[in-house]
Amino acid sequence: MEQCLFCGIVAGKVPSKKVYEDSHPIAFLDINPRNPGHALVIPKKHYTTLLDMPEKESGTLFESVRRVAAMVSSGTKSHGLSVVQSNGQAAGQVVQHVHFHVIPRFLNDTSAGLEGILPTKRMDEASMDKIAEAIKSASHHHASQKEEHYERPEKPKKPKDEIDFNF
Ligand code: 5GP
Ligand code: ZN
Repeated sequence: MEQCLFCGIVAGKVPSKKVYEDSHPIAFLDINPRNPGHALVIPKKHYTTLLDMPEKESGTLFESVRRVAAMVSSGTKSHGLSVVQSNGQAAGQVVQHVHFHVIPRFLNDTSAGLEGILPTKRMDEASMDKIAEAIKSASHHHASQKEEHYERPEKPKKPKDEIDFNF
């Protein structure tokens, strides 16, 4: 895709520090590492989010994520590893070419896991049942529903602490 930064990296027009390459995905160091060795794994073909990818290609991408995770872990002698993948503005995705972050983690960094992303929410059992039903009955072919899922208004209509889980 024209103008896409990561497509530019795939094409070699934008310099990067590649650490892995195969026929489909590549991995290179993040320019603003969260820890030394922080790598990004991307498909060579342009897709904006994970849900835009055909299942087979996302499977291939994840195999590479697993390989790069092992390489980063050994290469940095990390104590742990975070794999983070953000889709859409609401999730904080900045670069619009699907990517997995592979971040080596050390016992002396923040050691934050999910709490570094979002605080936990209180949900009663009826709300949990309702959301579980909504997910179970949803289609897993989401690419065609992309706009509905990702192009929400920039500012939520309700304040953040009043997010309505009963959509
Ligand atoms: P996102 O926030 O979209 O999940 O992550 C995008 C990541 O891309 C960020 O961590 C950012 O540091 C990284 N990034 C942005 N521009 C460049 C670049 O030109 N080269 C490399 N290697 N990484 C980049
Ligand atoms: Zn791209």
